[in-house]
Amino acid sequence: MFAMTVRTRFAPSPTGYLHIGGVRTALYSWLHARQNDGKFILRIEDTDRERSTQESVDAIIEGMDWIGLDYDEGPIFQTERFDRYAEVIQQLLDQGDAYHCYCTKEELVEVREQQRANKEKPRYNGKCRDLDEEPDGRESVIRFKNPLEGDVVIDDLIKGKIVINNRELDDLIIARSDGTPTYNFTVVVDDIDMGITHVIRGDDHINNTPRQINMMKALGYQIPKFAHAPMILGDDGKRLSKRHGAVGVMQYRDDGFIPQAVLNYLLRLGWSHEDQEIFSREEMIKLFKLEEVNGAPSTFNTQKLIWVNEQYIKTLPADEILQHLQWHLDQQKLDTSNGPAIRDVIEAHRDRAKTLKELAASIRYYYEDFKEYDEKAAKKHFKTATPGILQKLLDNLSALPEWTAEAIEASIKKTCDELELGMGKVGPALRVAVTGAAVSPSLDTTLALIGRDKSLERLQKAIHFATEKYA
Ligand code: GLU
Repeated sequence: MFAMTVRTRFAPSPTGYLHIGGVRTALYSWLHARQNDGKFILRIEDTDRERSTQESVDAIIEGMDWIGLDYDEGPIFQTERFDRYAEVIQQLLDQGDAYHCYCTKEELVEVREQQRANKEKPRYNGKCRDLDEEPDGRESVIRFKNPLEGDVVIDDLIKGKIVINNRELDDLIIARSDGTPTYNFTVVVDDIDMGITHVIRGDDHINNTPRQINMMKALGYQIPKFAHAPMILGDDGKRLSKRHGAVGVMQYRDDGFIPQAVLNYLLRLGWSHEDQEIFSREEMIKLFKLEEVNGAPSTFNTQKLIWVNEQYIKTLPADEILQHLQWHLDQQKLDTSNGPAIRDVIEAHRDRAKTLKELAASIRYYYEDFKEYDEKAAKKHFKTATPGILQKLLDNLSALPEWTAEAIEASIKKTCDELELGMGKVGPALRVAVTGAAVSPSLDTTLALIGRDKSLERLQKAIHFATEKYA
């Protein structure tokens, strides 16, 4: 026997952004395919033409691309498969596993009211299930003939065993009166045609699963394994939604997150491996197990996500950071082609930034002269004595034969000694003079990166500025 190739899919409906819950489900599917040398398929469930938009399709594809979940097949659009759905509907009719139902809306409402009055669960009563004669000229829908007896058993990889008695299920409409197929049916046909071995999706679909299994059985398909991922909650315990600032995944790019950090955070949400927090792509693929996903909902924690992002900014190779940082540099219109090598600047700043957006915003002074000093910083660190201190620094630094961090450090120390002042008096004034503000990496590195000419020129400017203010 050959082992069956694992085939998983992510099947979003293009009715909004690709949101963070969707990404997590996609991640599980992707990981499961990748760790089994399987295939991962992107299927766009766009049969609801009123709510589906091209914009949303684009957002899904852009989001998958940015986050790095590559798919082997797709995107496959359900709207391109209507002929196939019609074919399978006919097959079910021919087999006697589906039938036309002529009940009118009014009749159905009446049945439901009756059931409610009898304290029964509202469901279709099966009136048209075994009609001998089909009424002429009346509109009909097509229903699936759900088995009347027996249990549907789901051995859910995340939720465990779920048993539903067929008496709980009624005969689902699979085609509307205009012939268009319904959602639960198209999922079944697609999962069959695409050879899906593992259906991994949000647990909001768990009620659909027994119905889908029954249809798969009727079509003679080997039932795939199911894994229903629990939902993600906001910090108020309610399902994560726009109210919590849950937005399209591209917002995380805009806010300065590294895609791998977002994936890492989502992976850890409801799954763990010992006390490891950071997982490379390869480790994720190797270590993740669907069976180990916690079946209970998890709570989204933005602080934790930021923490993970920080770890990535601290440790990823500068080249990889740059791949993602460049977008922010472009957004913030910062041209880094003239000035210190951007990789060196990343190395100097990576320990100080929580996000790439912040990182990009904090390095402008290497590439452009600042127009004014940060008001608070200047007020605090430029004092009456400052022009004298800065002048001494300028003298000593100008005399340096080479412009390296070590030489700069020694020169600043020498200045402190000559002035008999501590670093606390000299450092901050120098920092404001060359960067315009009160925060930067260590002064020797900062000045080395800014470069000799620019550093000395800025010192000169600061001497003028402070003299005019205080002399
Ligand atoms: N289209 C469904 C959704 O976006 C997913 C269906 C499935 O995964 O079976 O919620």
